[in-house]
Amino acid sequence: MDFETVNTKLFEFLDSSPVPFFAVRNMKRMLEDAGFSGLEEGRAWELVPGGNYYVSRNDSALIAFRIPKRDFTGFMMMASHCDSPVFRVKPNAVITVEKRYEKLNVEKYGGALFAPWLDRPLSVAGRVVVRTEEGIETKLVNVDRDLLIIPSLAIHMNREANDGFKYNAQTDLLPLFRETGEGDGSFLSLIAEEAGVQPDRILDMDLYLYSRVKAVRVGLNREFVASGRLDDLQCSFASLEGFLRAKPRESVAVHCVFDNEEVGSVTKQGAGGTFLSDVLHRINTGLGRSEEEYLRALASSFLVSADNAHSVHPNHPEKADPVNRPVMNGGIVIKYSANQKYTTDAVSGAVFRAVCREAGVPYQVFTNRSDMIGGSTLGNITQTRVSLNTVDIGLAQLAMHSPCETAGARDTAYLAEAARVLFSGSIRSEGDGKYALRF
Ligand code: ZN
Repeated sequence: MDFETVNTKLFEFLDSSPVPFFAVRNMKRMLEDAGFSGLEEGRAWELVPGGNYYVSRNDSALIAFRIPKRDFTGFMMMASHCDSPVFRVKPNAVITVEKRYEKLNVEKYGGALFAPWLDRPLSVAGRVVVRTEEGIETKLVNVDRDLLIIPSLAIHMNREANDGFKYNAQTDLLPLFRETGEGDGSFLSLIAEEAGVQPDRILDMDLYLYSRVKAVRVGLNREFVASGRLDDLQCSFASLEGFLRAKPRESVAVHCVFDNEEVGSVTKQGAGGTFLSDVLHRINTGLGRSEEEYLRALASSFLVSADNAHSVHPNHPEKADPVNRPVMNGGIVIKYSANQKYTTDAVSGAVFRAVCREAGVPYQVFTNRSDMIGGSTLGNITQTRVSLNTVDIGLAQLAMHSPCETAGARDTAYLAEAARVLFSGSIRSEGDGKYALRF
Protein backbone atom coordinates (compact mmCIF):
# COMPACT_ATOMS: atom_id res chain seq x y z
CA MET A 1 0.00 0.00 0.00
CA ASP A 2 1.00 3.59 -0.63
CA PHE A 3 2.40 5.07 2.62
CA GLU A 4 1.93 8.64 1.42
CA THR A 5 -1.82 8.25 0.86
CA VAL A 6 -2.26 6.48 4.19
CA ASN A 7 -0.40 9.24 6.03
CA THR A 8 -2.38 12.00 4.30
CA LYS A 9 -5.62 10.35 5.43
CA LEU A 10 -4.21 9.64 8.90
CA PHE A 11 -3.24 13.31 9.33
CA GLU A 12 -6.73 14.48 8.32
CA PHE A 13 -8.17 12.10 10.90
CA LEU A 14 -5.76 13.17 13.66
CA ASP A 15 -6.21 16.89 13.05
CA SER A 16 -10.01 16.70 12.92
CA SER A 17 -10.32 14.43 15.99
CA PRO A 18 -9.21 16.59 18.95
CA VAL A 19 -11.36 14.57 21.40
CA PRO A 20 -13.14 11.16 21.22
CA PHE A 21 -16.50 12.66 20.17
CA PHE A 22 -14.93 13.94 16.96
CA ALA A 23 -12.96 10.74 16.34
CA VAL A 24 -16.23 8.80 16.49
CA ARG A 25 -18.03 11.31 14.28
CA ASN A 26 -15.22 11.14 11.70
CA MET A 27 -15.25 7.33 11.70
CA LYS A 28 -19.04 7.36 11.22
CA ARG A 29 -18.62 9.59 8.18
CA MET A 30 -16.00 7.25 6.71
CA LEU A 31 -18.32 4.28 7.31
CA GLU A 32 -21.32 6.09 5.80
CA ASP A 33 -19.24 7.02 2.75
CA ALA A 34 -18.53 3.29 2.36
CA GLY A 35 -22.27 2.48 2.48
CA PHE A 36 -22.60 1.32 6.10
CA SER A 37 -25.95 1.63 7.89
CA GLY A 38 -26.12 3.31 11.30
CA LEU A 39 -27.89 1.43 14.11
CA GLU A 40 -29.20 2.83 17.41
CA GLU A 41 -28.88 0.87 20.64
CA GLY A 42 -32.41 1.95 21.60
CA ARG A 43 -34.07 0.68 18.42
CA ALA A 44 -34.68 -2.75 16.92
CA TRP A 45 -31.93 -4.05 14.62
CA GLU A 46 -32.79 -5.79 11.40
CA LEU A 47 -29.59 -7.47 10.32
CA VAL A 48 -29.10 -9.38 7.08
CA PRO A 49 -26.26 -11.60 5.83
CA GLY A 50 -23.86 -9.49 3.78
CA GLY A 51 -24.89 -6.33 5.69
CA ASN A 52 -22.52 -3.60 6.94
CA TYR A 53 -23.39 -1.69 10.12
CA TYR A 54 -22.10 0.58 12.87
CA VAL A 55 -23.36 1.70 16.27
CA SER A 56 -22.00 4.26 18.76
CA ARG A 57 -22.43 4.60 22.52
CA ASN A 58 -22.15 7.93 24.35
CA ASP A 59 -20.97 9.48 21.05
CA SER A 60 -17.47 8.42 22.17
CA ALA A 61 -17.22 4.67 21.44
CA LEU A 62 -17.96 2.94 18.15
CA ILE A 63 -18.39 -0.63 16.93
CA ALA A 64 -18.72 -1.36 13.22
CA PHE A 65 -19.32 -4.84 11.85
CA ARG A 66 -19.58 -6.64 8.55
CA ILE A 67 -21.61 -9.83 8.28
CA PRO A 68 -20.48 -12.37 5.71
CA LYS A 69 -22.99 -13.61 3.14
CA ARG A 70 -22.94 -17.16 4.55
CA ASP A 71 -23.49 -18.46 8.09
CA PHE A 72 -20.57 -17.27 10.20
CA THR A 73 -17.89 -19.14 12.14
CA GLY A 74 -16.95 -16.46 14.67
CA PHE A 75 -15.93 -12.84 15.18
CA MET A 76 -12.63 -11.42 13.90
CA MET A 77 -12.08 -8.24 15.90
CA MET A 78 -9.68 -5.37 16.44
CA ALA A 79 -10.12 -3.02 19.41
CA SER A 80 -8.38 0.29 20.00
CA HIS A 81 -9.16 3.46 21.98
CA CYS A 82 -9.91 7.03 20.98
CA ASP A 83 -9.22 8.90 24.23
CA SER A 84 -5.88 10.46 25.16
CA PRO A 85 -4.49 12.02 28.35
CA VAL A 86 -5.76 15.61 28.41
CA PHE A 87 -7.15 18.30 30.69
CA ARG A 88 -10.87 18.51 31.33
CA VAL A 89 -12.48 21.91 31.87
CA LYS A 90 -14.13 21.89 35.32
CA PRO A 91 -17.62 23.23 36.02
CA ASN A 92 -17.67 26.97 36.82
CA ALA A 93 -14.31 27.13 35.10
CA VAL A 94 -13.43 30.82 35.00
CA ILE A 95 -11.01 32.13 37.64
CA THR A 96 -10.15 35.85 37.67
CA VAL A 97 -6.63 36.91 38.70
CA GLU A 98 -5.65 40.45 39.71
CA LYS A 99 -9.01 41.65 38.27
CA ARG A 100 -7.09 41.50 34.98
CA TYR A 101 -6.75 37.96 33.65
CA GLU A 102 -9.22 35.14 33.32
CA LYS A 103 -7.92 31.58 33.37
CA LEU A 104 -9.76 28.26 33.18
CA ASN A 105 -9.90 25.75 36.01
CA VAL A 106 -8.99 22.33 34.59
CA GLU A 107 -8.13 18.89 35.94
CA LYS A 108 -6.10 16.13 34.39
CA TYR A 109 -7.68 13.22 32.57
CA GLY A 110 -5.34 10.21 32.42
CA GLY A 111 -1.58 10.20 32.80
CA ALA A 112 -0.37 13.11 30.66
CA LEU A 113 3.23 14.24 30.35
CA PHE A 114 2.71 17.77 31.70
CA ALA A 115 5.68 19.79 30.43
CA PRO A 116 4.86 19.65 26.69
CA TRP A 117 1.41 21.17 27.34
CA LEU A 118 2.98 24.48 28.33
CA ASP A 119 3.77 27.39 26.03
CA ARG A 120 1.91 26.17 22.97
CA PRO A 121 -1.43 27.27 21.49
CA LEU A 122 -4.37 25.27 22.82
CA SER A 123 -8.12 25.28 22.38
CA VAL A 124 -11.17 23.45 23.72
CA ALA A 125 -13.40 20.79 22.18
CA GLY A 126 -16.07 18.45 23.45
CA ARG A 127 -19.83 18.42 23.74
CA VAL A 128 -22.62 20.46 25.27
CA VAL A 129 -25.97 19.06 26.25
CA VAL A 130 -28.84 21.44 25.55
CA ARG A 131 -32.46 21.61 26.53
CA THR A 132 -35.00 20.90 23.77
CA GLU A 133 -38.82 20.91 23.62
CA GLU A 134 -38.75 17.14 24.11
CA GLY A 135 -35.86 16.75 26.54
CA ILE A 136 -32.14 17.06 25.87
CA GLU A 137 -29.75 16.66 22.96
CA THR A 138 -25.99 16.67 22.42
CA LYS A 139 -24.05 19.11 20.26
CA LEU A 140 -20.36 18.75 19.52
CA VAL A 141 -18.19 21.82 19.94
CA ASN A 142 -14.70 22.59 18.67
CA VAL A 143 -13.41 26.13 19.05
CA ASP A 144 -11.25 25.83 15.95
CA ARG A 145 -8.74 28.58 16.63
CA ASP A 146 -5.76 29.32 18.86
CA LEU A 147 -7.53 30.29 22.08
CA LEU A 148 -5.58 29.35 25.20
CA ILE A 149 -2.05 28.97 26.49
CA ILE A 150 -0.52 27.57 29.70
CA PRO A 151 2.44 29.89 30.29
CA SER A 152 5.54 28.56 32.03
CA LEU A 153 6.92 30.42 35.00
CA ALA A 154 10.08 32.27 33.89
CA ILE A 155 13.35 30.57 34.81
CA HIS A 156 14.21 33.65 36.90
CA MET A 157 11.25 32.87 39.16
CA ASN A 158 11.78 29.11 39.17
CA ARG A 159 15.47 28.25 39.20
CA GLU A 160 14.65 24.53 39.63
CA ALA A 161 12.72 24.45 36.33
CA ASN A 162 15.47 22.38 34.66
CA ASP A 163 16.28 20.27 37.72
CA GLY A 164 13.36 17.88 37.91
CA PHE A 165 10.59 20.40 38.63
CA LYS A 166 7.35 18.88 39.89
CA TYR A 167 4.24 20.39 38.30
CA ASN A 168 1.22 21.00 40.51
CA ALA A 169 -1.95 20.27 38.54
CA GLN A 170 -3.98 22.91 40.40
CA THR A 171 -1.51 25.77 40.24
CA ASP A 172 0.91 25.28 37.32
CA LEU A 173 -1.35 24.01 34.57
CA LEU A 174 -4.32 26.37 34.24
CA PRO A 175 -4.62 27.97 30.80
CA LEU A 176 -4.90 31.73 30.28
CA PHE A 177 -8.22 32.54 28.58
CA ARG A 178 -8.62 36.31 28.29
CA GLU A 179 -7.98 39.80 29.51
CA THR A 180 -10.95 41.02 31.53
CA GLY A 181 -12.73 44.08 30.25
CA GLU A 182 -11.30 43.60 26.74
CA GLY A 183 -14.34 43.34 24.46
CA ASP A 184 -17.44 41.30 25.16
CA GLY A 185 -18.01 37.69 25.93
CA SER A 186 -17.56 34.98 28.47
CA PHE A 187 -16.41 31.41 28.27
CA LEU A 188 -20.01 30.20 28.33
CA SER A 189 -21.11 32.58 25.58
CA LEU A 190 -18.16 31.48 23.41
CA ILE A 191 -19.12 27.83 23.80
CA ALA A 192 -22.83 28.59 23.20
CA GLU A 193 -21.98 30.50 20.04
CA GLU A 194 -19.83 27.60 18.76
CA ALA A 195 -22.69 25.20 19.52
CA GLY A 196 -25.18 27.49 17.80
CA VAL A 197 -27.47 27.82 20.84
CA GLN A 198 -28.42 30.44 23.43
CA PRO A 199 -26.27 30.16 26.59
CA ASP A 200 -29.31 29.56 28.80
CA ARG A 201 -30.19 26.40 26.84
CA ILE A 202 -26.93 24.69 27.86
CA LEU A 203 -27.51 22.31 30.75
CA ASP A 204 -24.05 20.72 30.99
CA MET A 205 -20.76 20.32 29.11
CA ASP A 206 -17.84 17.90 28.67
CA LEU A 207 -15.01 20.08 27.37
CA TYR A 208 -11.30 19.26 27.07
CA LEU A 209 -8.14 21.14 26.14
CA TYR A 210 -6.29 20.10 23.01
CA SER A 211 -3.05 21.12 21.35
CA ARG A 212 -3.42 23.16 18.18
CA VAL A 213 -0.21 21.75 16.68
CA LYS A 214 -1.08 19.79 13.56
CA ALA A 215 0.33 16.42 12.49
CA VAL A 216 3.60 16.68 10.54
CA ARG A 217 6.32 14.49 9.00
CA VAL A 218 9.84 14.85 10.40
CA GLY A 219 13.24 13.26 9.72
CA LEU A 220 15.63 13.74 6.77
CA ASN A 221 13.50 11.48 4.61
CA ARG A 222 10.25 12.35 6.36
CA GLU A 223 10.31 8.90 7.92
CA PHE A 224 8.59 9.89 11.18
CA VAL A 225 5.21 11.36 12.00
CA ALA A 226 4.67 13.77 14.91
CA SER A 227 1.20 14.54 16.25
CA GLY A 228 -0.99 14.51 19.30
CA ARG A 229 -3.17 11.45 19.92
CA LEU A 230 -1.09 8.92 17.93
CA ASP A 231 -1.81 6.77 21.02
CA ASP A 232 -4.22 5.49 20.03
CA LEU A 233 -5.82 7.10 16.97
CA GLN A 234 -3.03 5.68 14.81
CA CYS A 235 -4.32 2.18 15.62
CA SER A 236 -8.01 3.21 15.39
CA PHE A 237 -7.37 4.64 11.93
CA ALA A 238 -5.35 1.63 10.71
CA SER A 239 -8.03 -0.73 12.03
CA LEU A 240 -10.75 1.14 10.14
CA GLU A 241 -8.67 1.33 6.94
CA GLY A 242 -8.14 -2.43 6.97
CA PHE A 243 -11.76 -3.05 7.96
CA LEU A 244 -13.11 -1.08 5.01
CA ARG A 245 -10.84 -2.89 2.54
CA ALA A 246 -11.51 -6.38 3.95
CA LYS A 247 -13.68 -9.06 2.36
CA PRO A 248 -15.18 -11.02 5.28
CA ARG A 249 -15.83 -14.56 4.09
CA GLU A 250 -16.61 -16.82 7.06
CA SER A 251 -16.51 -14.60 10.15
CA VAL A 252 -18.11 -11.35 11.22
CA ALA A 253 -15.51 -8.56 11.05
CA VAL A 254 -15.76 -6.24 14.07
CA HIS A 255 -13.96 -2.89 14.35
CA CYS A 256 -14.19 -1.57 17.94
CA VAL A 257 -13.01 1.77 19.28
CA PHE A 258 -13.51 2.36 22.99
CA ASP A 259 -13.34 5.48 25.16
CA ASN A 260 -11.78 5.89 28.61
CA GLU A 261 -8.80 3.53 28.22
CA GLU A 262 -6.60 6.21 29.80
CA VAL A 263 -8.65 6.15 33.00
CA GLY A 264 -9.07 2.39 33.38
CA SER A 265 -11.83 1.54 30.84
CA VAL A 266 -14.50 0.85 33.45
CA THR A 267 -17.28 3.00 31.96
CA LYS A 268 -20.31 2.22 29.82
CA GLN A 269 -18.36 3.31 26.73
CA GLY A 270 -15.07 1.74 27.84
CA ALA A 271 -13.65 -1.72 27.16
CA GLY A 272 -14.66 -2.77 30.69
CA GLY A 273 -18.34 -2.01 29.97
CA THR A 274 -20.90 -4.16 28.20
CA PHE A 275 -20.77 -2.44 24.80
CA LEU A 276 -18.89 -5.16 22.93
CA SER A 277 -20.68 -8.03 24.60
CA ASP A 278 -24.06 -6.37 23.96
CA VAL A 279 -23.30 -5.83 20.28
CA LEU A 280 -21.98 -9.38 19.73
CA HIS A 281 -25.08 -10.81 21.41
CA ARG A 282 -27.34 -8.69 19.23
CA ILE A 283 -25.53 -9.78 16.07
CA ASN A 284 -25.93 -13.39 17.16
CA THR A 285 -29.61 -13.22 18.08
CA GLY A 286 -30.34 -10.85 15.17
CA LEU A 287 -29.25 -13.61 12.81
CA GLY A 288 -31.47 -16.15 14.55
CA ARG A 289 -28.80 -18.00 16.50
CA SER A 290 -28.96 -19.48 19.99
CA GLU A 291 -26.84 -18.67 23.07
CA GLU A 292 -25.02 -21.97 22.59
CA GLU A 293 -24.18 -20.95 19.04
CA TYR A 294 -22.88 -17.63 20.43
CA LEU A 295 -20.51 -19.42 22.81
CA ARG A 296 -19.36 -21.76 20.04
CA ALA A 297 -18.71 -18.70 17.85
CA LEU A 298 -16.56 -17.11 20.60
CA ALA A 299 -14.38 -20.24 20.71
CA SER A 300 -13.73 -19.66 17.00
CA SER A 301 -13.13 -15.91 17.35
CA PHE A 302 -10.07 -13.70 17.74
CA LEU A 303 -9.46 -10.25 19.19
CA VAL A 304 -6.54 -7.98 18.41
CA SER A 305 -6.11 -5.36 21.13
CA ALA A 306 -4.29 -2.58 19.25
CA ASP A 307 -2.69 0.11 21.38
CA ASN A 308 0.58 1.85 20.70
CA ALA A 309 3.90 0.52 22.01
CA HIS A 310 7.20 2.04 23.08
CA SER A 311 10.04 2.32 20.59
CA VAL A 312 13.62 2.22 21.89
CA HIS A 313 14.26 5.87 22.78
CA PRO A 314 17.29 7.37 20.99
CA ASN A 315 18.33 9.27 24.15
CA HIS A 316 17.47 6.46 26.55
CA PRO A 317 18.19 3.10 24.92
CA GLU A 318 18.85 1.71 28.43
CA LYS A 319 15.11 1.89 29.22
CA ALA A 320 14.30 -0.92 26.78
CA ASP A 321 14.56 -4.65 27.36
CA PRO A 322 18.06 -5.97 26.51
CA VAL A 323 16.75 -8.19 23.69
CA ASN A 324 13.25 -7.14 22.61
CA ARG A 325 13.80 -3.64 21.27
CA PRO A 326 11.07 -2.31 18.96
CA VAL A 327 11.87 0.54 16.59
CA MET A 328 9.69 2.91 14.61
CA ASN A 329 9.04 1.66 11.06
CA GLY A 330 10.06 -1.82 12.22
CA GLY A 331 6.53 -3.18 11.85
CA ILE A 332 3.76 -4.18 14.19
CA VAL A 333 4.82 -4.69 17.80
CA ILE A 334 3.52 -7.82 19.55
CA LYS A 335 3.47 -7.15 23.31
CA TYR A 336 4.13 -9.70 26.05
CA SER A 337 3.79 -9.44 29.82
CA ALA A 338 4.18 -12.39 32.20
CA ASN A 339 1.54 -10.90 34.50
CA GLN A 340 -0.91 -10.77 31.59
CA LYS A 341 -1.14 -6.97 31.52
CA TYR A 342 -0.88 -7.88 27.85
CA THR A 343 -3.03 -10.81 26.79
CA THR A 344 -0.58 -12.28 24.29
CA ASP A 345 0.27 -15.96 24.84
CA ALA A 346 1.79 -18.58 22.58
CA VAL A 347 -1.54 -19.35 20.89
CA SER A 348 -2.59 -15.75 20.19
CA GLY A 349 1.00 -14.75 19.33
CA ALA A 350 1.14 -17.58 16.80
CA VAL A 351 -2.19 -16.61 15.24
CA PHE A 352 -1.13 -12.99 14.91
CA ARG A 353 2.20 -13.94 13.33
CA ALA A 354 0.22 -15.92 10.76
CA VAL A 355 -1.82 -12.78 10.04
CA CYS A 356 1.36 -10.69 9.56
CA ARG A 357 2.93 -13.29 7.31
CA GLU A 358 -0.17 -13.46 5.14
CA ALA A 359 -0.25 -9.65 5.00
CA GLY A 360 3.48 -9.53 4.15
CA VAL A 361 4.18 -6.99 6.90
CA PRO A 362 7.05 -6.99 9.40
CA TYR A 363 6.52 -7.51 13.10
CA GLN A 364 8.66 -7.18 16.24
CA VAL A 365 8.29 -7.94 19.93
CA PHE A 366 7.98 -5.76 23.04
CA THR A 367 8.51 -6.74 26.64
CA ASN A 368 9.12 -4.42 29.55
CA ARG A 369 12.50 -4.53 31.24
CA SER A 370 12.10 -7.08 34.02
CA ASP A 371 12.68 -4.30 36.60
CA MET A 372 10.03 -1.97 35.17
CA ILE A 373 6.26 -2.19 35.56
CA GLY A 374 5.18 -0.61 32.26
CA GLY A 375 1.70 0.37 31.16
CA SER A 376 -1.56 -1.43 30.65
CA THR A 377 -4.18 -1.45 27.92
CA LEU A 378 -7.66 -2.66 27.06
CA GLY A 379 -7.08 -6.26 25.91
CA ASN A 380 -7.13 -7.87 29.35
CA ILE A 381 -10.04 -5.69 30.52
CA THR A 382 -12.16 -6.83 27.55
CA GLN A 383 -11.77 -10.42 28.78
CA THR A 384 -14.02 -9.76 31.77
CA ARG A 385 -16.97 -9.33 29.37
CA VAL A 386 -16.00 -11.32 26.29
CA SER A 387 -13.38 -14.01 26.91
CA LEU A 388 -11.57 -15.30 23.85
CA ASN A 389 -8.12 -15.66 22.28
CA THR A 390 -6.61 -12.18 22.29
CA VAL A 391 -3.28 -10.66 21.30
CA ASP A 392 -1.91 -7.28 22.37
CA ILE A 393 -0.12 -5.33 19.68
CA GLY A 394 0.66 -1.72 18.80
CA LEU A 395 2.85 0.56 16.71
CA ALA A 396 6.20 1.73 18.07
CA GLN A 397 6.26 5.35 19.19
CA LEU A 398 8.13 7.83 21.36
CA ALA A 399 6.88 10.37 23.91
CA MET A 400 3.72 8.44 24.74
CA HIS A 401 1.13 10.68 26.44
CA SER A 402 2.73 13.92 25.26
CA PRO A 403 0.46 16.27 23.25
CA CYS A 404 3.02 15.75 20.46
CA GLU A 405 4.09 12.11 20.06
CA THR A 406 6.42 10.61 17.44
CA ALA A 407 5.88 7.41 15.43
CA GLY A 408 6.94 5.73 12.17
CA ALA A 409 5.59 6.92 8.82
CA ARG A 410 5.41 3.38 7.40
CA ASP A 411 3.86 1.55 10.34
CA THR A 412 0.26 2.74 9.92
CA ALA A 413 0.09 1.11 6.50
CA TYR A 414 1.55 -2.13 7.91
CA LEU A 415 -1.17 -2.32 10.53
CA ALA A 416 -3.91 -1.44 8.03
CA GLU A 417 -2.77 -4.32 5.81
CA ALA A 418 -2.64 -6.76 8.73
CA ALA A 419 -6.12 -5.57 9.76
CA ARG A 420 -7.42 -6.22 6.24
CA VAL A 421 -6.15 -9.81 6.41
CA LEU A 422 -7.51 -10.33 9.93
CA PHE A 423 -10.97 -8.99 9.06
CA SER A 424 -11.14 -11.11 5.90
CA GLY A 425 -10.14 -14.33 7.67
CA SER A 426 -11.35 -16.78 10.26
CA ILE A 427 -10.08 -19.07 12.99
CA ARG A 428 -11.96 -22.28 13.60
CA SER A 429 -11.58 -24.10 16.93
CA GLU A 430 -10.77 -27.78 16.46
CA GLY A 431 -10.10 -28.51 20.13
CA ASP A 432 -8.26 -26.60 22.86
CA GLY A 433 -5.06 -25.17 21.40
CA LYS A 434 -5.83 -26.43 17.90
CA TYR A 435 -7.21 -24.10 15.26
CA ALA A 436 -7.74 -24.04 11.52
CA LEU A 437 -6.60 -20.63 10.27
CA ARG A 438 -8.00 -19.18 7.07
CA PHE A 439 -6.24 -15.96 6.08
ZN1 ZN B 1 -3.07 3.75 24.40
